[in-house]
Amino acid sequence: MSPAKLDPYKSKRDPARTPEPMGPDPKKRSSQGRSGASFVVQEHHARALHWDFRLERDGVLVSWAVPKGVPLDPKRNHLAVAVEDHPLDYADFSGEIPKGEYGGGSVSIWDSGTYETEKWSDREVMVVLHGSRVTGRYVLFKTGGKNWMLHRMDPAPEGWESLPELVRPMLCRAGALPASGRGWTCEFKWDGVRAVTYVDGGRVQIKSRNDLEITAAYPELHALGRALGSRAAILDGEIVAFDEAGRPSFGLLQQRMHVRGESATRRLAQSIPVSYLVFDVMHLDGRSTLGLSYRERRALLKSLQLAGERWATPASYSQRPQAVLDAALAAGLEGVVCKRSESPYVPGRRSDDWVKVRGFGTQEVVVGGFTPGKGGRSGTIGALVLGIPSAEGLRYVGKVGTGFSDAHLKELAARFAKLTRKTSPFVGQLPRSQVADATWLRPTLVGEVRFSEWTRDGRLRQPAWRGLRPDKDPGDVAVE
Ligand code: MN
Repeated sequence: MSPAKLDPYKSKRDPARTPEPMGPDPKKRSSQGRSGASFVVQEHHARALHWDFRLERDGVLVSWAVPKGVPLDPKRNHLAVAVEDHPLDYADFSGEIPKGEYGGGSVSIWDSGTYETEKWSDREVMVVLHGSRVTGRYVLFKTGGKNWMLHRMDPAPEGWESLPELVRPMLCRAGALPASGRGWTCEFKWDGVRAVTYVDGGRVQIKSRNDLEITAAYPELHALGRALGSRAAILDGEIVAFDEAGRPSFGLLQQRMHVRGESATRRLAQSIPVSYLVFDVMHLDGRSTLGLSYRERRALLKSLQLAGERWATPASYSQRPQAVLDAALAAGLEGVVCKRSESPYVPGRRSDDWVKVRGFGTQEVVVGGFTPGKGGRSGTIGALVLGIPSAEGLRYVGKVGTGFSDAHLKELAARFAKLTRKTSPFVGQLPRSQVADATWLRPTLVGEVRFSEWTRDGRLRQPAWRGLRPDKDPGDVAVE
């Protein structure tokens, strides 16, 4: 080894300020007497999480920083950025590089072992790794400048499945509490928006229940990827905004749901931060968990120890469902979801294995028109004319004239401007006196109301507006 090889390494580090090894110590580690050359992969939680891939060669560790880690899927090449050669004894290093120093953050050994070289040129390095987490043939090939690609040449390890791009959330049916709690587990029902999170290589992608990408809207949840390190997972949960009393507030959350634009999003993430309450896992580390029972999936979820500032796995209860519901309502929550303990996860389906039970009614509705405001609300919206789709068309279920905040009214007025039409979108009889002065709308907006009960003629009694549901389509709306 030429001593100059480690100059770039040493020039970036001050031995007085970092615990990292500073180069060959002839009395310490030597490559002699070991079989084959060694490799190490270090997980490095620096400013950006990455994995350092290092191969022993000519007395140093030739190194690349791999932002998404070593791929196990031969179909996915991962970027590998060439970095300075590291001293051999760096292979044993784990610990904390002080903040502010080069590469500040924690380093742990993700895998290590030996390797054989099949080819080594300036542009291409082909090796066979023998580690405890990674075994197999890999090639690194240069794509330009410091950028290389790391590609697995062997098939994925046996039984290993890549992270699917889309797993739709399993849906609940609204119903009554299971008569006997036996075979059921209950969770509190969180009033927020459903979100499925894909975590791979320390990165997260968040999708809404209608498959829209909503990652950018919730920057405070991105650190969940770093928290999971090299684990690959698909998680199911609810994004919730808590009010000052610690209760989920759908109204607060709504201020986050519609926001586009990076600076506005970042500002709101500070003033109205959300929490991600994770209640299920659909895929973990190269294996689908859909076929496992709820009980088994919960055990896996627990093992992930998701307990960050902005995410958690809320408890599940095997007590009597009525006792769980009472506790939920006493805590100001809207109800519970009871799940059959032995049931599998059925993506995208409404299932009898998951039953949501509410202490009061909420109902999703399609907005088909509005009537003008009177008195203090003149010039704005008075009430919304609501419907629920049926086989024949949109069926009238009543009007809602309370529950609006000023922000709601402004937002609705803006949306309505583009949706007006001349004719009623409803089928069947409408109570003429109720809708005489209505402006009709194309029935594309979905909202949610709280109400006391259904009247005998199929109308909502005492409805109050809760807000728009941009995450739902009119086709999703049905009597709950
Ligand atoms: Mn690094």
